[in-house]
Amino acid sequence: MNNPIVDESLLDLAHRRSVEFLRALPERHVGPRAARQELIDAWGAPLSEDGEDPAAVLDSMASQADRAMTGSAAGRYFGFVIGGSLPVAVAADWLTSAWDQNCGTFSTSPGDSVAEEISAGWLLDLLGLPKTASAGFVTGGQTANFTCLAAARHWVLRNAGWNVEEEGLQGAPRVNVVLSAEAHITVYFALRLLGLGNANVHKVDTDEQGRMRADKLAELLPHLSGPTIISSQVGNVNTGSIDPVRELARIAHEHEAWLHVDGAFGLWGMASRDRRPLLEGVQDADSWATDAHKWLNVPYDCGVAIVRHSAAHRAAMTLTASYLEQTSGAERDPFDWTPEFSRRARGFTVYAALRTLGRRGVEELVDRCCARARQMASLLARDPRARVLNDVVLNQALVRFKDDDDATRETVVRAQRDGTCWMSGTTWHDMAAMRISVSNWSTSEKDVERSAAAILRSIP
Ligand SMILES: *Cc1c(COP(=O)(O)O)cnc(C)c1O
Repeated sequence: MNNPIVDESLLDLAHRRSVEFLRALPERHVGPRAARQELIDAWGAPLSEDGEDPAAVLDSMASQADRAMTGSAAGRYFGFVIGGSLPVAVAADWLTSAWDQNCGTFSTSPGDSVAEEISAGWLLDLLGLPKTASAGFVTGGQTANFTCLAAARHWVLRNAGWNVEEEGLQGAPRVNVVLSAEAHITVYFALRLLGLGNANVHKVDTDEQGRMRADKLAELLPHLSGPTIISSQVGNVNTGSIDPVRELARIAHEHEAWLHVDGAFGLWGMASRDRRPLLEGVQDADSWATDAHKWLNVPYDCGVAIVRHSAAHRAAMTLTASYLEQTSGAERDPFDWTPEFSRRARGFTVYAALRTLGRRGVEELVDRCCARARQMASLLARDPRARVLNDVVLNQALVRFKDDDDATRETVVRAQRDGTCWMSGTTWHDMAAMRISVSNWSTSEKDVERSAAAILRSIP
């Protein structure tokens, strides 16, 4: 019988083109290449009246992939904190597209609801967080920060006798927001969306590695009265350093403040017995934002918002309407825990990745990336022209060349152009630096050796 919804030849074409792309990836130029005009010339005709042959459309897109796509999915991309994709996660993502589930409610997708429920339990266990915490699968770290801080806003205002979901912020008690001076920009964005703004944020000084200073927080809090939200981080975006969360949580809770942890990548350190001592006390916080698309290496987009006080999490995110079927209670309606209503079934890739890796596999992934970051730092540091600026405690290394801003920036540009590897530049404590993040499951020792050699030959 003719079934118009399956077109095997198109799926085969996508399969073939994907394999071709991934095969070439480890040896191709790593960084971005295509200029805007080049892609517009290739792809941008006036929209046709009658459409085009779908195989021709896919072929035209895929024919540019080599130049249009950065090589971030392979092992010598060290830019930002990007991460690749485990093969099983790519495959699970294809299935997710074929299944095309709207996973807002249990009734629209029992499969995703349960995959999320199981994955959330596994994650809490792996990351050493309270078993009763709730988790929402969101688009990424930014939305995870937003979701957690929305739960925080609910909780601190409810404790002050104010229902922010009903009344909004008009006439509400003032909420104090305290951030590390090196908080990620996405925390600021979340505060904007939450109506808390950026101008009145209290910034707490950091130490030489970029960690929030607990003594400075302890000094500040007695001067603040009323509802207070504090946001710390594990995994400073430059150095990978980890705030002293045990101490911060103790101080926060003495003042009945909410302590959030932005752990977009660093929270994964909890999955490693070796790294866990660095994150001591992380489980004492009230909420945690992390990414699966970074260090767990699932395809974009996937982050996780985890909240100790699940009632606050749910109150901040839930919605009801007469046309929605409410579940009987045990079933999870994913939209209770995320800002989105309809969305992609993000549970499947996380489920497939965690189940395939197991506890040891996740630990090895984390340990391997940390070991490669240390390897890179030590290979570079052997050259007298290079200086590693941070303690390489996780997967991030910051390197400066000839102790000079211009020489460092020039090294970054030349290394990017060389194409063996790719990393970005940054400014750290008023110094230009090259920022190296090892977040890809496939990065090998050999990849690091080749990359270090390419970086060293790029020093002007
Ligand atoms: C990447 C990152 C974010 C933002 O996460 P997205 O997934 O890009 O939205 C937030 N905080 C830190 C520390 C990060 O590294």
